[in-house]
Amino acid sequence: MAGPTEHIALDRALCIGAGLCAATAPRHFVLDADRRSTLRPDAGEPDEDTEDAVAICPVEAISLVPGARPGLIRPPVRSGE
Ligand code: SF4
Repeated sequence: MAGPTEHIALDRALCIGAGLCAATAPRHFVLDADRRSTLRPDAGEPDEDTEDAVAICPVEAISLVPGARPGLIRPPVRSGE
């Protein structure tokens, strides 16, 4: 079960913009203007919806990583992206 000892890792390079994460865990994920998933800055800790998003992402772009720290996005989001 997700909890305060895990954080979300999102690999935007893998994302194909299916939107399932944003539909499943809208508190954590939103699609940007390029239809790639990004983490909401105020998302908070992973929860059961996040686990569902991890399971449903068709390209395995989302994972839960041990350690309580802010969400990790790769590659970094540049301004204007
Ligand atoms: S479910 Fe996966 S592929 Fe779809 S938008 Fe989210 S991260 Fe991207």
